[in-house]
Amino acid sequence: MGKWVHKALTPTDTAETGPHADMEDLALLVEGKLGGDERENLLRHLNQCGQCYEILQSTMKDVQEAPSAEPTPIAWWKTKSAYALAASIIFLILVGGPLVYQFQTRQSLIASAELIVDQELKDILLEYDALEWHRVKRIKRFISVLHKKGYRVKSFDRVILAKPYYQTKSLFGPEEVLYIRIDDGVAYLEVKEKK
Ligand SMILES: [Zn+2]
Repeated sequence: MGKWVHKALTPTDTAETGPHADMEDLALLVEGKLGGDERENLLRHLNQCGQCYEILQSTMKDVQEAPSAEPTPIAWWKTKSAYALAASIIFLILVGGPLVYQFQTRQSLIASAELIVDQELKDILLEYDALEWHRVKRIKRFISVLHKKGYRVKSFDRVILAKPYYQTKSLFGPEEVLYIRIDDGVAYLEVKEKK
């Protein structure tokens, strides 16, 4: 609470409002232990002095946070800076962190998906017309496209198409949907016209 004492002693326009409230008096007031003239004077000052009123509010918060606020020092983990530190650590863990990343991806790995076939997918599908993909690079590119589209799919290292994929004749033809089912490291693909 030392900082509040310092704050209270900061010289400001004390001319009209009289001397600033004593830190100890404020604490006693909050605890209901201040009486008589002292209490009256303090309340009158608080009515006029925003600075001391602010200090009073902080004191009340401190007292609420530490109900056993006798002279014993507040445990370090109860202090505001410790809270802030803990909060920032939790924030870092939530936002960044490869651990969390792994956790999230493991949580939401999906075994099947339906995607509208856009140009990006078309390029991959048209790369060659074999029904089974063996090229690791191509498969990796396919997985990264899925990730980019927000699909955290189970891992696979083989791709099998139900039927060869050919470029649709018309740019304005019906939309196509790519159905993906992943089973035991194999992704089974099928492209169908959207109904
Ligand atoms: Zn004051």
